[in-house]
Amino acid sequence: MIETSNRPKVAIIGGGFTGLTAALRLAEAGYEVTVLESGAELGGLAASFQIGGEPLEKAYHHLFRTDVDILQLADELGISDRLEWLESSLAIYRDGRTWSFVTPLDLIRFSPCSLVGRIRLGIMALRIKYKTDWHDLVELGALDWMRAHSGQSATRAVWEPLLRGKFSTQAEEISMAWLWARLHIRSNSRESGGGKEKLGYIRGGFVRLVNALEVKLREAGVDILTSCRVNEIAGDGKRVRVSYQGDSVVYDAAIFTGSNRALAALLKCESREAELLRKSLQRVHYLGAICLVFQTSQKLGDFYWVNVSEPDAPFLVMIRHTKLVPAQRYGGKEVYYLGAYVSQDGRRFNSSNEDLEKEWFDYLQKMHPEFDRSCVESKQMFRFCDAQHVVDCEYFSKILPFETSLNGLFLANFTQVFPEDRGTNFAVRDGNKVASVVGEWLAKRQ
Ligand SMILES: Cc1cc2nc3c(=O)[nH]c(=O)nc-3n(C[C@H](O)[C@H](O)[C@H](O)COP(=O)(O)OP(=O)(O)OC[C@H]3O[C@@H](n4cnc5c(N)ncnc54)[C@H](O)[C@@H]3O)c2cc1C
Repeated sequence: MIETSNRPKVAIIGGGFTGLTAALRLAEAGYEVTVLESGAELGGLAASFQIGGEPLEKAYHHLFRTDVDILQLADELGISDRLEWLESSLAIYRDGRTWSFVTPLDLIRFSPCSLVGRIRLGIMALRIKYKTDWHDLVELGALDWMRAHSGQSATRAVWEPLLRGKFSTQAEEISMAWLWARLHIRSNSRESGGGKEKLGYIRGGFVRLVNALEVKLREAGVDILTSCRVNEIAGDGKRVRVSYQGDSVVYDAAIFTGSNRALAALLKCESREAELLRKSLQRVHYLGAICLVFQTSQKLGDFYWVNVSEPDAPFLVMIRHTKLVPAQRYGGKEVYYLGAYVSQDGRRFNSSNEDLEKEWFDYLQKMHPEFDRSCVESKQMFRFCDAQHVVDCEYFSKILPFETSLNGLFLANFTQVFPEDRGTNFAVRDGNKVASVVGEWLAKRQ
């Protein structure tokens, strides 16, 4: 513990799970910590809104059994009794119908893929489940790998639509190491003996965890400013100058937890180090995400998660949230998400809510002819900037360390999570890690 009389000051830019966890650890270690969050509330990409009288994430969220860091944090904050493990169900919409992917037998019935393709798909799934080292997959294209190992038919029916939906025109460039991690984690979320997949949800929403963190931070004396956008960051050789709300405040260290793209735009490039840092940050490309959340009395399909694998589909996923979490919690009505990842400069990310809603509801009606728009009781469209980074075959070389080339400035965001997909668990893990890196750095500088 450091002396209170001369406590180094640390700014944490971003009040998502990475920033809040790092703030907690640094405050516990005795530093004077300020959290600066541009949004009106904390939570970042996992932030919530109200639907049916209950908080719900603006973007669909669940946990896996392998998410040990966030589970540990929930325990530490005394809310692990709110964690529930619920039976999931997965399906693929293809060739005009929804195909269940819950049991191994479902794969045999999946006729959009040839019989040989289905057998190869099954063998490939086992191979991924038991493969533990991913390093040899980093520079291999996921679609090329799938063509070689699960065949053309399965790649066309399953992997191409999935990767095109998630990465748009950059689908062919995605690293197999990333796809390996997604499949490996999912296959290990099943109970042993080929049981059904169980997913975790926090009763009352992820906001319970955010609120518990906030309480703990305030008790530890952390200053939390929301609706506070940082508009410039500059190094002055030894410390970091952070500008917000018309002021420029000098900190001993600052941790930026927003996207690489956002930090590149904020950096005041007075030095060669800052210019080089900006160039390295700009090597990572992002897509935006859109989620349309709506509540209705209608039950549409029997699955929690449906990957929409038709080439002409305007969204990638249809989620019946209330297939996982009981509808009674949301006033007895069903809650759905339709979600897509899109280019931030593209038509869909920039079109009006009305146009997008019409396009998506038209398609939903094609999937579920019984869908009746007049039964929709509430709906909200959410857009997220820099929601997914493009994990191409060169991606491993683009990952930056926590400590940047600007003295006192640290970066901690989901671009540093690899090969796993970004997630709240890794945000907590990296919040813990970056706090200890910053603590050691400050201790050496004393
Ligand atoms: C569609 C979708 C579905 C997802 N599903 C899941 C899931 O099922 N399970 C799961 O675990 N994870 C899921 N995730 C991922 C998860 O939400 C993120 O990995 C996690 O929340 C990232 O936390 P973070 O703190 O690193 O970043 P963020 O949550 O992005 O937080 C960064 C914060 O920095 C703030 N900020 C940026 N610039 C500035 C600035 N200049 N000044 C002040 N503040 C600034 C932002 O406002 C933001 O609040 C999903 C994400 C999306 C988009």
